[in-house]
Amino acid sequence: MNHVDILAACGLTQNGLTGGTLSVTTPVDGSEIARLTPHSTTEARAMIDTAHAAFLEWRKVPAPRRGEFVRLLGEELRRQKASLGALVTLECGKILQEGLGEVQEMIDICDFAVGLSRQLYGLTIASERPGHAMRETWHPMGVCGVITAFNFPVAPWCWNAALALVCGDPVIWKPSEKTPLTALAVQNICERVRAEFGEDAPEGLTQVLVGERDLGAALTAHPSVAIVSATGSVPMGRAVAADLAKRLGRSILELGGNNAMIVAPSADLEMALRAIVFSAVGTAGQRCTSLRRLIVHEDVYDALIPRLVKTYEGLPVGDPLADGTLVGPLIDVQALAAMDAALNTARSEGGTVHGGGQILTDSHAAAAYVRPAIAEMPSQTAIVHHETFAPILYVVKYRDLDDAIAMQNAVPQGLSSCIFSTDVRETEYFLSTVGSDCGIANVNIGPSGAEIGGAFGGEKDTGGGRESGSDAWKGYMRRQTNTINYSRELPLAQGIRFDI
Ligand code: NAD
Repeated sequence: MNHVDILAACGLTQNGLTGGTLSVTTPVDGSEIARLTPHSTTEARAMIDTAHAAFLEWRKVPAPRRGEFVRLLGEELRRQKASLGALVTLECGKILQEGLGEVQEMIDICDFAVGLSRQLYGLTIASERPGHAMRETWHPMGVCGVITAFNFPVAPWCWNAALALVCGDPVIWKPSEKTPLTALAVQNICERVRAEFGEDAPEGLTQVLVGERDLGAALTAHPSVAIVSATGSVPMGRAVAADLAKRLGRSILELGGNNAMIVAPSADLEMALRAIVFSAVGTAGQRCTSLRRLIVHEDVYDALIPRLVKTYEGLPVGDPLADGTLVGPLIDVQALAAMDAALNTARSEGGTVHGGGQILTDSHAAAAYVRPAIAEMPSQTAIVHHETFAPILYVVKYRDLDDAIAMQNAVPQGLSSCIFSTDVRETEYFLSTVGSDCGIANVNIGPSGAEIGGAFGGEKDTGGGRESGSDAWKGYMRRQTNTINYSRELPLAQGIRFDI
């Protein structure tokens, strides 16, 4: 399929995609595929008012019925999986298998949220007073603003939206300015679902704001946006957190990662090799959970690293829409420059670099295809502490597990981590209170590719937010504590006497 066909299959016709000032290019060949008209901040404020009006209606719809909306959304996504997956690939450059996987993740979280819509459980609590009952009730919170990054253009919206919608919150989405087309395609799907669902799904239940960061800032500034869930870089998260703090708004922050794998002497090296390659070069190293640091025990270093270097040399890099490609392009030439700069710094800090560098082809002259790189480092130097959003894997040696864990925890980010070991003492130690300090800690699998059933997010500079499974839904609701007196007395708590 050519670019126009992929857009058309998602309902994006050429007359809606031209004439604006926001240029959207495809990393596949660097060409422009749309020129959108961005929303103004005045329009953004009007859309937030519409969303708030939608909230006043949607909160009255029973949660299991709200779940029916998300069930229909999941069904429509199933029907659109192939076309939306291809559009994800066209717009952000990840290989088609990963584009399809991202849509599957949307379907999975919809299924999860449908079940959740009948399980928004509160507690019953023992009261210290006779004839009293206590309980905890969860209520819809308000409009949920969702800001997303280019590298996962659709799944993080759905992790938020599927939960927010069953929790009773309308959603306004500010996608990355680099990937607005997938958001418009998803909004088309949502409008079809709304029409099918019936009149109790109000206008403005889901909306998309097209534009740059000023529109994200419009969400964080507006008092009617009760929750802002923001996925992106650490500097973005700091700005969003500060803006929200000014008005004491609620944030869910999903920021950068600098994820490590420890390979212990007892590791199954065949499994480790596969896990390393998928998690370090998948999405061309542009996942928040990409493997960036490999901490290898000195006894297995020579058995692993030369094989890894050889495997990297044979990786098929190329058109992400083509069968057999494992590594697609970087998002743009700025990302390529950042990768080159990081590799130069790694060399200047004593590293030995294998791979790296642009791969030029005539058909894709304007695109940023690179050979993934491995940098063997003398220690965790300054550059290793930094998240460069590109396929660079830094490798260091360790002798003692405590040192390896200390290295793993020594970076500012705290998203994902893992250990390859068949020694239960080591693996349990890694997961214990003195082990990994990350939000995600895995054993014998890589740091990327999380399932939706668990809470997703990380600590420290990663922002502390949690999305997706487990009890992440509580981030989209307000908790109310109720005390009910069904006696004929009015005893006070803590035994206080107050006689009038
Ligand atoms: P980015 O921070 O440049 O942009 C992300 C989004 O934030 C965009 O929509 C942008 O317009 C918006 N934005 C930027 N500044 C803003 C501000 N001051 N106020 C409001 N909105 C603002 O990130 P990117 O380059 O698109 O994505 C890459 C980064 O995202 C990496 O650091 C990666 O680790 C991170 N990421 C994290 C997760 C996670 O779940 N932890 C997932 C994906 C990506």
